[in-house]
Amino acid sequence: MSRKLIIAANWKMNKGPAETEAFLEKFLAAAADLTDQADLIIAPNNLSIPTASALINDVNPSVGLAAQTVSENDNGAFTGETSTDMLKELFVNYVIIGHSERRSIYGETNAQINAKLKKALAADITPLFCIGETLAEREGGQLETVLGSQIKEGLEGISDISNVVIAYEPVWAIGTGVTATAEQAQDTHKFCRSVIEDLYGADAAAAVRIQYGGSVKGANSAELLGQPDIDGALVGGAALEADSFLELIRNAVA
Ligand code: PEP
Repeated sequence: MSRKLIIAANWKMNKGPAETEAFLEKFLAAAADLTDQADLIIAPNNLSIPTASALINDVNPSVGLAAQTVSENDNGAFTGETSTDMLKELFVNYVIIGHSERRSIYGETNAQINAKLKKALAADITPLFCIGETLAEREGGQLETVLGSQIKEGLEGISDISNVVIAYEPVWAIGTGVTATAEQAQDTHKFCRSVIEDLYGADAAAAVRIQYGGSVKGANSAELLGQPDIDGALVGGAALEADSFLELIRNAVA
């Protein structure tokens, strides 16, 4: 089964509206030639989403727009939170859920991530569902246990994963400049796909797209995304400049 590459920029807490506009003016025109070959997504800070939404709709609506998290609640007394309805109103069609920074800094649990995944799917927003192990967990031989429970608990009660994208991001490779080797990443993606096969069957496992994240850049995107079970990338640092993000994408689709 051929799976279309899916490459997303996670800007984290970077770029207000003015910087978002400057990036997108350069990126969207150049991306026109690339969206046939890969689904491309930008995840700005919430305050920059309206600017990004307007530009994407004007210039290149085939580029996806993501939020970096979403509330598991509909509305009400949840200070600081954003609902799926609010995202939909701004044409947000993807959301990153369970990023390791949300798990480690804000204490998001697998149960909360499960609730957020359900909320996104109910709103027809495609979740980029992040999983990943720490270095201590990998070195302690717990890689498969940790990833297995993140996947199973995260997807608990979700019967259809055709609109779910998984992002495997080893915590030790995020923002560190250290990348998993192509072989390590491929082996781990293959394991994740086997967990999906156990849960949802062979067809769902063959169809689900699994992104790799962790210090992906122009110099390594071709090798990493060329692996049979790696279907794209979730990119932090290298996606902050339009030129470096475009280089990463061009090398991956070449
Ligand atoms: C990320 O934040 O999801 C990420 C992978 O960051 P970086 O590319 O900077 O490692």
